[in-house]
Amino acid sequence: MARWLFISDLHLTGERPEANERFFRFLSEEAAGARALCVLGDLFEYWIGDDELDAPDGDPLARDAVHALRELTNSGVTVQLMHGNRDFLIGDRFAAATGVSILDDPTVLPVAGTPTLLMHGDTLCTDDHDYQAWRRTARSPEWQRGFLAAPLAERRRQILQMRDKSREVVAAKPAEIMDVNPGAVRDAFRRHDVRRLIHGHTHRAAYHPMEVNGARCERWVLPDWYGERGGYLTVDEMGARLVSF
Ligand code: MN
Repeated sequence: MARWLFISDLHLTGERPEANERFFRFLSEEAAGARALCVLGDLFEYWIGDDELDAPDGDPLARDAVHALRELTNSGVTVQLMHGNRDFLIGDRFAAATGVSILDDPTVLPVAGTPTLLMHGDTLCTDDHDYQAWRRTARSPEWQRGFLAAPLAERRRQILQMRDKSREVVAAKPAEIMDVNPGAVRDAFRRHDVRRLIHGHTHRAAYHPMEVNGARCERWVLPDWYGERGGYLTVDEMGARLVSF
């Protein structure tokens, strides 16, 4: 039976080689036998611009990941990628080098015959007002033009600084603010008229059955790949199932 696989929040970085190895193994084993692989954001810990791929001082992990994704798409597996809040600067050059197509957030796709709403998940966290304000800034063409105009080394320095600052801010925030807002989830089901939603971002892997307008709906949250953790969602005509490593 044809399987669709979903992953997100791998946060690949040279700092965590074990997670990177698990990703490469996942591509050559599980994903190689799938109909399609969808990466729902934050594949990378950060992405500072596609020109990383051509730069002599570019991150070798970025090039290895591109190479592995290219092998998978060459073998006939459809690979689609949605931006996360860490790697939203992935662009056309990356898409061309890997053969993946970039998905808008949100997107509704037929997955094993079921119309399925796909999101990274950060837009559902509407209680986190500071984050939503930053998101609007970072997704604006003006901010992106300015950022991408800086040399790679300077961009890397800025991003690492932002990441360290965001770690402090996140540690100080109550946990429920960092989760999805239940009203935003219901709105998403209604607006897109679907019964199944798959997203990541919150790092709270789970299956949440719920009822919206009298209809049974499913919300699937993907796992992150921090530490020893990691996993994916597999979907076929029989339904969806979370698999952890
Ligand atoms: Mn995220």
